[in-house]
Amino acid sequence: MVLAGLWFGDSKPLMSTFLKPIYQSLLELERNGVDIIVHENVIEAKAFLLCTAADLPAKSLLMNMNQFNGEYSCGKCVQKGQTFKTNKSGCVHIFPFIKDEVVELRTKIKCIENAITAREAKKTLNGIKGPSLLMGLQTIRSVLIIVVFWEIVDLLKECM
Ligand SMILES: [Zn+2]
Repeated sequence: MVLAGLWFGDSKPLMSTFLKPIYQSLLELERNGVDIIVHENVIEAKAFLLCTAADLPAKSLLMNMNQFNGEYSCGKCVQKGQTFKTNKSGCVHIFPFIKDEVVELRTKIKCIENAITAREAKKTLNGIKGPSLLMGLQTIRSVLIIVVFWEIVDLLKECM
């Protein structure tokens, strides 16, 4: 596990500034790896990012997507969703199950295409605002394997 960083501040980080050094290190580890000496033998080890942990606002920044309460904000599929008014005069964004509705799943290729189109058009496409640095990594999927921190906390509470 690598803790890449924690951000504290009154505003959100500029993700490219925050992520670029991490991305460059991860790319170096993917492509060239590092030499590790084990019992006087040199072993070339490569490392790949398998998942990240972030809360929902950070997840959207990492993926360069709409925030969780916006349209097309699901990282796994391309579903617009809808605003749902709650009893407490608030609202949430939901993705209702609609029988017989075919929902397109996100793929790495489609996400990259959407990201390029969004950047060129300067307009969000299917919830994607533009390329994410993480899209350049070999193993990370466009649908990032993001474990939402609060889900882990909830899971731990259930286990205790
Ligand atoms: Zn979905």
